[in-house]
Amino acid sequence: MKKVLVLEDEASIRSFIVINLRRAGYDVIEAQSGEEALEQLRIHPDTRVALLDIMLPGIDGFEVCRRIRATNGQIGIIMLTARSQEMDKVTGLMTGADDYVTKPFSPAELTARVDALFRRAGGEAPVQSGEIRQPPFLLNTRNRTLEKNGVRIKLTQVEYSIMRYFMENPGKALSREEILDTVWGRDYFGELKIVDVNIRRLRLKIEDNVQNPVYITTVWGYGYKWGF
Ligand code: CA
Repeated sequence: MKKVLVLEDEASIRSFIVINLRRAGYDVIEAQSGEEALEQLRIHPDTRVALLDIMLPGIDGFEVCRRIRATNGQIGIIMLTARSQEMDKVTGLMTGADDYVTKPFSPAELTARVDALFRRAGGEAPVQSGEIRQPPFLLNTRNRTLEKNGVRIKLTQVEYSIMRYFMENPGKALSREEILDTVWGRDYFGELKIVDVNIRRLRLKIEDNVQNPVYITTVWGYGYKWGF
């Protein structure tokens, strides 16, 4: 079941999204308000990707995102933003979204984004190997979990994929393009900035001091390196 939730209060935009996702083979659930979206997710816990509009009557898309993430790190979340320059993008990603799409978007762009997240959100084949141990971190590739000093760190699926890519390549400088290709997929046509924002959020979760990151270091003008 490829179940996707679409939260959008404007009927014309919502039906445009719904029609195109159905055409791409998704089982689509619709919601017109944040409250309705949360209710729909309770009814359909097997929903794997949620598209959340930001400006809504009642609670906004960021709040919906926050509430979903409070209990669900597995679902993929895409924010629908109104303007390309919107700082909301960053806010949305910091509240736990995995990606954003700027309106207006083409059907191809939309489905490519959903497809990419869908693969991330547990759609991949399970891996055989068990764990990657790099003290103080322990990545369990079976359960897709991360521990630091024995304490579980809650990650989104995208954050998990980035961590795994890092931990499989310790000490190696990885370009932002390589990270984007590996984590989001080669057919993804978003911006490199999404890599930076996700890594910023990941640092908040795993670094002792975010001002002075030692686990994920920046390779200026290139990308990032896992190693310490
Ligand atoms: Ca709206």
